[in-house]
Amino acid sequence: MYLQIDSNILTIILIVFFSAILIYLLRFGLGYMMKRNRSELQDQPLKTITIASCINNDYMLEREFREGDFIGKIDGLCPKCNSNIVIEKIYVVPLTVKETKEKR
Ligand SMILES: [Zn+2]
Repeated sequence: MYLQIDSNILTIILIVFFSAILIYLLRFGLGYMMKRNRSELQDQPLKTITIASCINNDYMLEREFREGDFIGKIDGLCPKCNSNIVIEKIYVVPLTVKETKEKR
C-alpha cells in the first residue's frame, strides 16, 4: 500500500518535472528566437527611401517613404517645368550605413 502510493507520487512528480522542463525549453527557445530577432532589428535600424523624379528628368527628389507610396505613383508637380513627378524607386537602407557614408 505504502509502496504503491509512493510510486504513484513518483510518477506524478516525474511527469510534472518533465513537462516543466519541456515548457521551460519551449519558452526559452521561443524567447531566444524573439530576442534575437528584436536585437537584430535594433542593431540595424532600417530606413525606407523613396526616389521620385520629373518625367522630363530635370528634377529629382529623395525623401522618406510615406504610406501609400508605390513605383509609378504621381508625387506632385515639378517646380521647374510643372510636369508630373513620378516615383521611380523605393528602397531600404540601413540607417547606420547611411550615417557613416554621409560625409559632405
Ligand atoms: Zn521637370
